[in-house]
Amino acid sequence: MHSKSIVELNDGLKKGEFSSVELTQHYLQRIKKLDSKLNAFITVCDDSALEQAKQADQRIKAGQSSLLTGIPYAHKDIFCTDGIKTSCGSKMLDSFTAPYDAYVTELLKKDGAVMLGKTNMDEFAMGSSSETSFYGPVRNPWNTACVPGGSSGGSAAAVAANLAPLATGTDTGGSIRQPAALCGITGIKPTYGRVSRYGMIAFASSLDQGGPFARSAEDAAYLLQVMSGFDQRDSTCVDKPVPDYTKSLGDSISGLTIGVPNEYFSDGLDTGVAQSIEQAIKVYEKLGAKIKKITLPNTNLSVPAYYVVAPAECSSNLSRYDGVRFGHRCDDPENLEDLYERSRGEGFGDEVKRRIMLGTYVLSAGYYDAYYLKAQKVRRLISNDFKAAFSDVDVIMGPTTPEVAFKLGEKTADPVTMYLSDIFTIAVNLAGLPGLSIPAGMVNDLPVGLQIIGDYFSEAKLLNVAHQFQQETDWHKQSPKAFS
Ligand code: GLN
Repeated sequence: MHSKSIVELNDGLKKGEFSSVELTQHYLQRIKKLDSKLNAFITVCDDSALEQAKQADQRIKAGQSSLLTGIPYAHKDIFCTDGIKTSCGSKMLDSFTAPYDAYVTELLKKDGAVMLGKTNMDEFAMGSSSETSFYGPVRNPWNTACVPGGSSGGSAAAVAANLAPLATGTDTGGSIRQPAALCGITGIKPTYGRVSRYGMIAFASSLDQGGPFARSAEDAAYLLQVMSGFDQRDSTCVDKPVPDYTKSLGDSISGLTIGVPNEYFSDGLDTGVAQSIEQAIKVYEKLGAKIKKITLPNTNLSVPAYYVVAPAECSSNLSRYDGVRFGHRCDDPENLEDLYERSRGEGFGDEVKRRIMLGTYVLSAGYYDAYYLKAQKVRRLISNDFKAAFSDVDVIMGPTTPEVAFKLGEKTADPVTMYLSDIFTIAVNLAGLPGLSIPAGMVNDLPVGLQIIGDYFSEAKLLNVAHQFQQETDWHKQSPKAFS
């Protein structure tokens, strides 16, 4: 059952081969049996999932099903879920039950999707390995000694291990694409403004964007379809019609121009990963695409600029956790200052504190111009690089990550090395562009991700370009043995 695509699942549900309750039970049982090896879930919602499945079955019987009616999914614990714990991977929100649904949650509910549970993640989505969670690290289903990537590692691991056919994630600097790459699945970060951020706990608001994880581009198209759309409660959400993402999946890509940036094949890139990406690009050539070498000259500035902009926004966003209105509150505070200091000191983990300090510093009087303003200017240069590139090419391709999944603990002592895991993904967020990652090879029995970047609102094209590759190759069909 768990190897079926969304099309097959929808078909089976409609024909009555199995019910949504049966499907949901199947996944809940797998989670019960296997998740202790991965720690992909923070909360499993047995009762509410079965209730949603029952309702979905009635809807299907009445002939009123929609795209994901009765289909189970795992929800990153950064999305607010009415009446269900929403922790964002932090002790700060360990006892927080959201009093409302995020817009994405609302859309999935309306469509009749079944939420299996909330997935583990780096605390407040800060990280590239899913090791900073208050609930312990997530493990990679391909090798449980390795990280699944982050911050949406729980969602990626859940889909890779067939504990859910679909999952949601968020991507501020790579948190959908990087774990998708390391776990061997498909993940897409949409254009900034495509998916509403309402009720999605804020990390760096000008970069955060929700998106789907799935085993294939086709499956991802279904979830993105449901997640996308205008919402006036997010002032940066763009009021633009959502195309039918599944409709363009059969389009020919003959004549497509693929830009391959020199900067993405530089020193730090693992040779095995480089070879896999070169092979993948050859598949596209076979499909009739033209390859063009391009340059994105400011690529090396993206990580430094990001680590000014993202912490700046995070220090402002996370100031709301004061131990008064919500969040962890320390015991017996002596006065207001003691309440703030101890509540925040106890509630936040080390990485979050590091970012808050960095962000407060770069925004402080006297340093603002030197750091924050400068970083914003660099951000413009990075956007301009992409703008110039897209006047010549249709999509840009390269590796999603410089190497395959690394061992747990390998990079935790050195934050800068950890930050460099996102060297190929961060520029996309700074420019607000869409990007996706698909599995495109194996190195040391661990998956390699191919990144495909498109111009603004080109999600339909990206999904089709990925789909065409998946018609030719079967990397996306491989599953880790222990979870297949
Ligand atoms: N790894 C990056 C960071 O630590 C990006 C995280 C993300 O995309 N949420 O900030």
